[in-house]
Amino acid sequence: MSSCCGTTEASAHPCPQCGHVGPIVGTAPVRPHLPDAVDGDWQHCANESCEVIFHLGMDTVDMDSVSTQVGLKATDKETPVCFCFAHTADDLAEDYAANNGVSEIKASIKAAVANGQCACEHLNPRGKCCLADVHRILTTFARPTPVS
Ligand SMILES: [Zn+2]
Repeated sequence: MSSCCGTTEASAHPCPQCGHVGPIVGTAPVRPHLPDAVDGDWQHCANESCEVIFHLGMDTVDMDSVSTQVGLKATDKETPVCFCFAHTADDLAEDYAANNGVSEIKASIKAAVANGQCACEHLNPRGKCCLADVHRILTTFARPTPVS
């Protein structure tokens, strides 16, 4: 089995809010929530009672500013299929329809996985890569649907 989602063992810092030392997830999973996130070793704070979701130095992304659920946090937001890049089932459906049944999102996730940019084992509550889930959902779109 190829190793999906390996994260680097760079030095981890405590969350500026709660002091929990979470895994380094890098910049890619932060960008969907904070488009102008600076590049760096962003970390995920997995402490469920802390409102910080990502942090880099004193920069933080909290539960109010994420666009979807992340890991076990911000559960009041939409639950994405791909937790690393915040793709929801609706995003997948739109992308699938817009590209004549080819999922560019799936291709982009695959590329990101190949580049080691995802962190599914930390951000997906199920602790594994989302590609199987993405594939399963895409399969449900493949049924003939009336063109409206
Ligand atoms: Zn925290």
